[in-house]
Amino acid sequence: MSTKSRIGTKLKAFCASCKGDRNCEVKGHHSVNESDQRSGISWWRDWYLLICCGCEHVFFQSVSGDSESYDVIDVDYEGNPVFAPDETIRRWPAPFKRERPVWLEEISYQNNHDRSIDLQKCLTEVYEALDGDLNVLAGIGTRTVFDIASEILGIDTELPFNKKLQEMVDKKLITNSQKDHLEVVINAGGASAHRGWLPHIEDLNTLMDILEDFIHDSFILPAKKKATDENVAKVKQKVPPRKPKSKANKSSTAPRKATSKIPNEVEQDHRSESHNV
Ligand SMILES: [Zn+2]
Repeated sequence: MSTKSRIGTKLKAFCASCKGDRNCEVKGHHSVNESDQRSGISWWRDWYLLICCGCEHVFFQSVSGDSESYDVIDVDYEGNPVFAPDETIRRWPAPFKRERPVWLEEISYQNNHDRSIDLQKCLTEVYEALDGDLNVLAGIGTRTVFDIASEILGIDTELPFNKKLQEMVDKKLITNSQKDHLEVVINAGGASAHRGWLPHIEDLNTLMDILEDFIHDSFILPAKKKATDENVAKVKQKVPPRKPKSKANKSSTAPRKATSKIPNEVEQDHRSESHNV
């Protein structure tokens, strides 16, 4: 809670860019304090525009609380509890709930398909839904990501999910084990869309593990293998071929072996001569 502008001061806040609590300079500040005279309850909210003093990442943060919500944070020397306001902190851009895979940006250009960019966009939206605690939307989104991915892999979009999965197994696009896992993703997405299931972040992390493995194995790994094969072919062309050994070469090596013995023979002769003397 603050009643005067804090522009130009510093406060500690979590920086999503360099990932930690950092000193941040307050570049903008707006404060609202309100109360209900009959109940005596008051509440407040502060909005901050912050810049991280470590990495210069700019972000927005709001801090809100009320006169009825406090947490015990310590005990004083007389044994009395020490209270602090139970404040709610919100940030934009929101801190990542799940780290993006390093290959996320590669999806759109590693595969020559009209819907590759849609696949990347949809997956990015799922991450953003996770960041924003929009768990139901994230759950539905995982199923949509699978839908687009299966279309890119050449599976008929009109097929029901179970038949899509079976066709992918038949075409050796996924293993039976992957099919079992993807079934869970699809059923979970369906439960969120049609049966009011509210997945927890731990549930969604499991679904995302499955989905990321599937996308990586289906699109990123084959593209990398293809690139490696092409590079290997280029290097192979540059490497000078080994010349076959000719008979002349073979005979030229023989005397070298013989000459290597000569010093010993000379030495032996020399020793024998000196012995005779
Ligand atoms: Zn930072």
